[in-house]
Amino acid sequence: MWCGIEDIVGVALSQLKDALQSRKVSIRFAPELPSVPVDDVLIEQVLINVISNSIKYSPEGSEIVIEADYDRDMLHLSIADQGIGIAPGDLERVFEKFYRGQLTKHIPGTGLGLAICKSIVEAHGGQITASKNEPQGTVFRISLPLQFAEKDGDRYDTYRGENFNH
Ligand code: ATP
Ligand code: MG
Repeated sequence: MWCGIEDIVGVALSQLKDALQSRKVSIRFAPELPSVPVDDVLIEQVLINVISNSIKYSPEGSEIVIEADYDRDMLHLSIADQGIGIAPGDLERVFEKFYRGQLTKHIPGTGLGLAICKSIVEAHGGQITASKNEPQGTVFRISLPLQFAEKDGDRYDTYRGENFNH
């Protein structure tokens, strides 16, 4: 269905409300963001996973910046933290199933959250990447197509037992 990314981010943030009390959250959305043709529950789950990581791997009191803008074809969302960061050699590997980054071995986790995010985003015809935040931390960028591709409906069915209506 066609969804406002503002609403999806809002749901994710409200689900993480308690954990976020010890972080400062800044939101910068470009004016008049277009709706995106997505499965809202799945994209909420992506955001919950990515923002949970930003909380888990950054110190109390630090800032998490969520930005959204768009170009002709895609809506771009970024989640930036000031945390531990990801080693350059791990920036792509963190999306592999069960892979845990070198800098966070002392913090428990299963290494599945980002693999799930990647498969959901790619099922929407989008991309998710990680890069270094300056001067410290990590930025996750998620791009989602602004147009619905017919084959997307079938791909979402991998995750949900219902049809995709748009
Ligand atoms: P879980 O499956 O419980 O989420 P996890 O957090 O270890 O466990 P992922 O969310 O897939 O698994 O993340 C994979 C790895 O990527 C993490 O182990 C961590 O090393 C690194 N990582 C992810 N997000 C961040 C972040 N915001 N800052 C620093 N490292 C991160
Ligand atoms: Mg995680």
